[in-house]
Amino acid sequence: KLSKRLETVASFVPTGAIVADIGSDHAYLPCYLVHKGIAARAVAGEVVKGPYESAVKQVRTEGLTDKITVRMADGLAAVEEADEITAVTIAGMGGPLIVSILEKHPQALKSVTRLILQPNIHAKAIREWAMENGWAIQDEVILEEDGKIYEVLVLQRGEMKLNEAQTLLGPKLMETKVPVFIEKWSREIANWQRVQQAISEAEKTPENQEKYEQLTHYIKMVQEA
Ligand code: SAM
Repeated sequence: KLSKRLETVASFVPTGAIVADIGSDHAYLPCYLVHKGIAARAVAGEVVKGPYESAVKQVRTEGLTDKITVRMADGLAAVEEADEITAVTIAGMGGPLIVSILEKHPQALKSVTRLILQPNIHAKAIREWAMENGWAIQDEVILEEDGKIYEVLVLQRGEMKLNEAQTLLGPKLMETKVPVFIEKWSREIANWQRVQQAISEAEKTPENQEKYEQLTHYIKMVQEA
C-alpha cells in the first residue's frame, strides 16, 4: 500500500500518462501507477546506486519490466526524447532540490504537460520557478502523515502571477485554509517568534536587526493571510 503522501501525488497523474518519476527510490509510485492502469508506461530515475537497485528489484518483483524502465541518472537526464514523457513526478525532496532538477535539463520537459511535485520543505522555491518558467498552479494539497506536513503542487503550462504571500503560502492553499494549513503556519510563526526572542537577547548588530525585521514582516504577512 502506498503512503497517503504518494497516493496524493498519484491522484493527480492523468489516466494514460507516460510518467517519469525522478528520485524514485524503491519505485513504489511508478509501480502503483502502472498497476492501477493510470500510467501507460513509466521511467523511474535514481542517481544513487542503492535506491536504483531497489527500484530495479521492485519493478522485477512486480512483473512490470515491460512497462517501467529504471535508469540511473542525475535528475531529468533519466528521460530520453523517445520516451515521450507527458507527466513528471518528483516527491520527497526539498523544494530547492526539486527546482535544481527541473532547471538542469529543461529540454527533458519538452513533451511534458503536467508536473506533480511534493516538496518536503520550501515549496516557495517551486512557485517562484514556476512563475518564471511558464508553469501555473492547477492544484495544491496540504496533508499530514505521521506527524509531518507535506505539500503537493500540480503544475500545468501557463502564465501565473503570485504576490509575496501567495508565493510563500500557496494560492490555492490560502483560499481553502484547511486545518493542516493553519497548523503548519501556526508552527512556523511560533518558530519565527522563538528566533526573534533569541535575537532580542543577543548582541544588537545590524544583521540581527535586519533579520528581526524580516521575521516581523513574515509573521505579519502570514497572520494577515
Ligand atoms: N520519491 C520517493 C518518495 O517520495 O517516497 C523517494 C524519496 S527519497 C527521500 C529521495 C530520493 O531522491 C533518494 O532516493 C535520492 O537518491 C533521490 N535523488 C536525490 N537527488 C536526485 C537527483 N538529482 N536525481 C535523481 N534522484 C535523486
